[in-house]
Amino acid sequence: MLMKDYTLRSLYHLVRRINQYASEFKSLTDVQLQDKTVFFKHQLENGKTLDEILPEAFAVVREADRRVLGMFPFDVQVMGGIVLHQGNVAEMKTGEGKTLTATMPLYLNALTGQSTLLITANEYLAKRDAAEMGKVYQWLGLSCSCGVTAPDKDLKPVEKRAIYAADIVYTTSGTFGFDYLLDNLASNSAEKYMRPFGYAIVDEVDQVLLDSAQTPLVISGAPRVQSNMYRIADNFIQTLSEDQEYKLDEERKSVWLTPKGITAAEHYFRLSKLYDGQYTELLRQIMLALRAHTLFENGKDYVVEAGEIKLLDEQNGRVLEMTKLQSGQHQALEARENLDITPDMRAMASITFQNLFRKFKKLGGMTGTGKTAEEEFIETYYMKVVRIPTNRPIIRRDLPDLVYSTLPEKLLASLDLVKKLHQKGQPILLVTQSVELSEIYSELLLREQIPHNVLNARNAAKEAAIIAEAGQRDAVTVATSMAGRGTDIKLGTGVAELGGLAVIGTEKMTNHRVELQLRGRAGRQGDPGMSRFFVSLEDEVVFKFGARWLRHYFENHSFKFGNSPKRLKSRLIYQAIQRAQNVSDNNGYQQRKSTLEFDESVRIQREEIYKQRDKLIFGTEHLDCQVKNILKKQINTFVKNSHHLTQQRISRFIWDNLSYSYQIEDSKSFDQESLTDYLYDIALSQLHNKINSMNEGDRQSFFRLAILKAIDNCWIEEVDNLQQLRTVVSARQYAQRNPIYEYHQEAMTSFKKMKSRIMQQSIKNLLLSSILTGENGESVIYFS
Ligand code: ADP
Ligand code: MG
Repeated sequence: MLMKDYTLRSLYHLVRRINQYASEFKSLTDVQLQDKTVFFKHQLENGKTLDEILPEAFAVVREADRRVLGMFPFDVQVMGGIVLHQGNVAEMKTGEGKTLTATMPLYLNALTGQSTLLITANEYLAKRDAAEMGKVYQWLGLSCSCGVTAPDKDLKPVEKRAIYAADIVYTTSGTFGFDYLLDNLASNSAEKYMRPFGYAIVDEVDQVLLDSAQTPLVISGAPRVQSNMYRIADNFIQTLSEDQEYKLDEERKSVWLTPKGITAAEHYFRLSKLYDGQYTELLRQIMLALRAHTLFENGKDYVVEAGEIKLLDEQNGRVLEMTKLQSGQHQALEARENLDITPDMRAMASITFQNLFRKFKKLGGMTGTGKTAEEEFIETYYMKVVRIPTNRPIIRRDLPDLVYSTLPEKLLASLDLVKKLHQKGQPILLVTQSVELSEIYSELLLREQIPHNVLNARNAAKEAAIIAEAGQRDAVTVATSMAGRGTDIKLGTGVAELGGLAVIGTEKMTNHRVELQLRGRAGRQGDPGMSRFFVSLEDEVVFKFGARWLRHYFENHSFKFGNSPKRLKSRLIYQAIQRAQNVSDNNGYQQRKSTLEFDESVRIQREEIYKQRDKLIFGTEHLDCQVKNILKKQINTFVKNSHHLTQQRISRFIWDNLSYSYQIEDSKSFDQESLTDYLYDIALSQLHNKINSMNEGDRQSFFRLAILKAIDNCWIEEVDNLQQLRTVVSARQYAQRNPIYEYHQEAMTSFKKMKSRIMQQSIKNLLLSSILTGENGESVIYFS
């Protein structure tokens, strides 16, 4: 408590200092105010810190906001801006004006010349906010760009470089993440466009950094050699039963074979030890099939449409186009559904959102609902959550949940409330968690002849327009819970007198923050409003995470149509429902933690590889020495590790690595030392043949490319390999083995192997490649 007070006190103190500039700056001419940008940049160059110039710089943006946009940031917005600058999460309620708040810290931090970004929750918001707020930065002499473009338009590297070169960039986490991965697949500096990670503010930070961070970003490339085992593994799985051959933990979304299951597999496939290293691929297939049958539900996690598996969005139940499960899981589902098996794409690059955002030097976040997730923000991102007071007091009434036993009772009761409120013209936002339920409500409303809008298109721009209309008199809007975050609902005329917007939740949300977000749709900027949730014991979160006795209680109740819904009033039931939501929340947290723990190995490897690539791409040093070292090392390794140096072996090594055509004279015999020299001479002369006609520049770029290609080939394989390894280790949960520990162990081994493969591949690229002259006289290199 003390600490919180102290934070707010120091914020108030800073706000007073900023306010002191207000009247002076108001009297400046436009040009005088605009000149401040150059003035601040000079001050920074002369050693002033951002914190020192903050009060004056914030005051400048504030005045610019007023002149350009007609909005003067309130004191509480200034406080939020300071929190963002300090690298923490500002909790500011919906409608408090977070978009405008961000202009102050973004301007201040962009003055350093470091990359400065605002990450929004969707593309629509990135475009909207870049266009609106961009005016202020441009007026002040800074450039601003929007990172998202039309979906069918692939930007060229120079265009992307122009976007990222802007002082301030508005974009989404997905666009930014994929750009980062693609930038690190580039093979020369002309294709690279990213700047080093500087400062970023994440809008709707809980949604971006927590809710969508459950699964990593993956770029897939060439198809993998197809396994023919999907169907066989699928057949085998169907002979097993739960708790006998396998165990299932639905909450944690994991499943594993029991010792009995392992024996069954050994019988079925006629082998003696399934966990022997040589059956890794089979084990992986079995796990994929097992997961396909136990962790995925047709109709809930996916649907089958026109012979294809279509995944559904967990948050709102919509079809996710163009999305496939990774590492063979998709194919295992296809086998389960008896569909044609599509090619499995290799993963070429991947990163979790957590590790992507932790690369920023400084990260700030803003949301209406951050406090309840503060522990996770601190642990994962080292960000505190500071609750900023609202500009006007909140007068919205958040009414307690109404609980019913069955779904029909809940529907009837909630519909009664809708009818009552609609009769007097009060606007209603009716929110469901699934598309299915939103359609049921739509049907019921139609039957009652209540006109309404339904949000079920996956189009954020349209969603935004519908949501923005939701505050008009008589409006009834049915929406899924994720719809339209970031869009402001303003009340129409006369609506405040009717009680403002009424938010009616139709089920217990699987996530406490989502529930708070929804309530917060009403009562913005001191408006009147109300919120009320209707809950039944059939709600997913209650059913899945609730205590057993709730289920028994439910099963002993039935409801006959024609009767009136009966409300449950027992305190115990309310507490049990709240607990179910807490378990669900914690479950999400644990899943994200585990994603992050698994990614740790990949992160270390990725950082090392990306660093090496950048050194090759941007490095200016000559590589002659490095190339010779590679040759020497590789030859040494071969000579040292071969016990029987027959002539045949030596020839094989030469043909595989050094020269396609070299013939060893018969009757030549070697000791280790003379062999090393002999091979090294061959390698050197081969190299000289290749490069003697090149000029200095061409030679260096040939070296760079040869090594880079080797790194990329091996690294892409490693990324894919690590992805698959995850499935394999999760099979080992039985017998107290720690999957994460084992994963890291194996990842380390495979990284070492990969490094030696890189060396080997580099030699081949250097010595066995062919360099031909292309049509226009340029050199074209063909790597073996
Ligand atoms: P949030 O993201 O916090 O939910 P928005 O940034 O969408 O809120 O802003 C909500 C509305 O408040 C917008 O219409 C915006 O123009 C308006 N607004 C924000 N700050 C101010 C201000 N200082 N003065 C007047 N209007 C403001
Ligand atoms: Mg917003």
